[in-house]
Amino acid sequence: MPHVVTENCQDCRFTDCVTACPVACFHGDGERLYIDAKACIDCGACIPRCPVRAIKEDFDLSADEEEWAQINALRAPGLPVVRAKEAPLPGAEGRRAALGLN
Ligand code: SF4
Ligand code: SF4
Repeated sequence: MPHVVTENCQDCRFTDCVTACPVACFHGDGERLYIDAKACIDCGACIPRCPVRAIKEDFDLSADEEEWAQINALRAPGLPVVRAKEAPLPGAEGRRAALGLN
């Protein structure tokens, strides 16, 4: 079962996760990242790297989060691969604080 980037990534994009991925399966738009479900090998290396706990295994998604599996699978293939850590988006630290994850 592939790993999935969920709601907490929105407007954060700390991108610590991409440096852990051995198969470069993170893709991004201007607001967040998505995991390519067909490329993910389920190694789990990205999960502890995300400072806002946005990445979950497919089977670990709550009912409210299940839609993210399809969103990742649909969006990732059409977006550029993100391989290197980038500067976080301007509101990223504030959003992390609002989520209580500082
Ligand atoms: S580290 Fe987490 S918040 Fe940052 S881009 Fe990756 S999944 Fe999104
Ligand atoms: S579980 Fe592994 S292969 Fe899948 S996105 Fe995370 S680091 Fe990449």
